[in-house]
Amino acid sequence: MTERLYYDDAYLWEFDATVTASAEGKTPGVYGITLDRSAFYPTSGGQPFDTGVIRFDGGEARVTDVEADRGGEVWHLTDRQIPVGTKVHCVIDGERRTDHMEQHGGEHMLAGAIWEKLKGMTIGLHLGAEESTIDVELPEGRTHLTDDEIRMLEDTVNERIRLDAPIRCWFPGKEELASLPLRKRPTVTEHVRIVAMGDFEMVACGGTHPSSTGRIGMIKIIGVIPAKGKARVSFVCGGRAAKLFRKYMACADKAGAALSSPVDKLSRAANELKTRLAEAERKARVYETAEILGKIRAAESRYDLRIAALSAVTLPEGDPKAVAAAVSEYIAEKGKILLLGVGERLTFARSADVKADMNELIRRVGRGGGRPDMASGAGIPECVGVARKILMTEMK
Ligand SMILES: [Zn+2]
Repeated sequence: MTERLYYDDAYLWEFDATVTASAEGKTPGVYGITLDRSAFYPTSGGQPFDTGVIRFDGGEARVTDVEADRGGEVWHLTDRQIPVGTKVHCVIDGERRTDHMEQHGGEHMLAGAIWEKLKGMTIGLHLGAEESTIDVELPEGRTHLTDDEIRMLEDTVNERIRLDAPIRCWFPGKEELASLPLRKRPTVTEHVRIVAMGDFEMVACGGTHPSSTGRIGMIKIIGVIPAKGKARVSFVCGGRAAKLFRKYMACADKAGAALSSPVDKLSRAANELKTRLAEAERKARVYETAEILGKIRAAESRYDLRIAALSAVTLPEGDPKAVAAAVSEYIAEKGKILLLGVGERLTFARSADVKADMNELIRRVGRGGGRPDMASGAGIPECVGVARKILMTEMK
């Protein structure tokens, strides 16, 4: 079984070891090796694997994945084969590991606070590339948190982070284990490793943790959504929180510059802009409606049909609301039939006193349907002319 060096020192980025097994992977160019001792963390408990390099006499291999087998051996997937017995010097990507420890440590603090303050039980951790999530089982099947609860949890955890309390990991004996106030019972019975984050959180965990709560930096809850009957809480910690703050600040500054508004008055500026835009669109629609109506009237012929005035018009484009308003206004008058094509949208409509079936007519020339007095659909502009011919032939 590989001796796991990260159990004693989670900040050990470099170590010496000897290759104990070497195998070719299923994928060409990927090899697997085990070492007598390793500080590389294998994916488990929601915390992703470490990466790094393994140096030996004759070269260097990149570690692209790390996983533990059932027997407790840690397998390092590499891009080069290293023979059994080779003495190696390993270097872990400390930046990647530090980031993982910040997220993982923050998850413990958050889960502890959720349990203490809300009696919510955290089920799983997913440490993603951008943000991390935990699923929380809340009393009475609640699947959300209020804004006040989110703020309270953030404040609680950040205050505890600032206290810089020591984080301790150890393997207790059976008797001691039974007496510990764990947040939840361990899922394993042998070699149970306990992590205590100051006096705030104590639970079984085989992961890597910062040496004190202060090294988590800070936590920011991003959001809470319902997921499978639980509340899914997403968050970032440490360097990621700073990065996210920088990103949001940049977005807010750009939006502020675009709207000529200080950042703290952005929502008011955006709402004012929305109101002004809606008013401008309403006015533009009034003009467009009048323009379309003008074109409809200009195309009207009183001599085509005995029973009604007919207007057959095609327009290249038009705001659907303005088109609808113009159509309604036109057929509100007595004795009108309108065959309108706007782009590929067809609207055939008639006044209430005219007897002609627009629904049937539109089905004969294009796709669509509706009521006898108003039908809409799709078709090429020529459909309007065809419909006009049909009406003139059959209604004259
Ligand atoms: Zn842990």
